[in-house]
Amino acid sequence: MENNKISYLSNAVEFLEDEINNQDVEAFYRACITHLSKNERLEKPKLRNFYSGKEKSEKTYGNYMDKLIHLLDKFQEEIQSRNAELALTKRPIIKTHIGGGSGNPTYYYIDFEDWETPPSFNQNTGLQKTETISQDIIYRTKTLKRTPWYLKFAAKFFAKTRQRQAFLLAVLIYFIAAPIALGFLMQLIPLTYWGLLVLGYFLLFNPVWNVIKLATHKIALIEHVFQPIGAVCISKVKNVKDSDSFLDIEREILSVVVDGTCPICNHKYNLKNSVQLESQSLFNRRIIGKCLNNPKEHRFTFDKDLMTGTSLNT
Ligand SMILES: [Zn+2]
Repeated sequence: MENNKISYLSNAVEFLEDEINNQDVEAFYRACITHLSKNERLEKPKLRNFYSGKEKSEKTYGNYMDKLIHLLDKFQEEIQSRNAELALTKRPIIKTHIGGGSGNPTYYYIDFEDWETPPSFNQNTGLQKTETISQDIIYRTKTLKRTPWYLKFAAKFFAKTRQRQAFLLAVLIYFIAAPIALGFLMQLIPLTYWGLLVLGYFLLFNPVWNVIKLATHKIALIEHVFQPIGAVCISKVKNVKDSDSFLDIEREILSVVVDGTCPICNHKYNLKNSVQLESQSLFNRRIIGKCLNNPKEHRFTFDKDLMTGTSLNT
């Protein structure tokens, strides 16, 4: 622990370089730490010996020390993360012992303090902090205020297997037949009407595509400017008539907004409901939960049947 505390403080000064923003002061801090590695105390009147820049008053040197103590405290989490390999069970700090009267100068010394961790898991030391947080997430659903018209329409056909199949066939024909029909019609009808038909085709493209996704993936993101982020449409099992036959399932379409509380950000910042559903990436359309505070690292699976998820990074 003795050598480690010096390594910790030296690393800290290195980390704080930008904050200190003065080479003379930085060198001064290093010299003070070196002194403290060999001696128990660093007396305030001696501080001037460690400063190699233009001479300052004793009060200024004291102010420099106060600043270092303040910075060590302010950036303790960042400093700790750079010192994980030292495996310190307590945090090294510089303390000031105020002297009284003549012959009893103020001095600085290194002491240890418990890591400052959020109250909910203060029995753990800094390193285990992230490991003890549950990586599971429970999603909650809210009803969608405006269900898109095409989902209301498709819902009628999604209940029974037969109807569902017929409806999907029609949808697939739309994808294949409509472009061909548009090709033929170009020569037959006035261009204005034709243009309107093409416009109609493109307006229907996204709804039809969502219905196909709903049929194949049983879930689709409703991405629309008038819809809240995280709105999804789920093809939910309503009734299993014959448990041996997978196809004979009654389903219902559920349009909901889903969000969840990121377990990491909840522990660290008490932040609630920061997780929203999104596609994993432009190329991977898997629907996952992303935390708004840390969308690249705090990612969770989304299980529409359990309304739960686990971290994607473990
Ligand atoms: Zn988060």
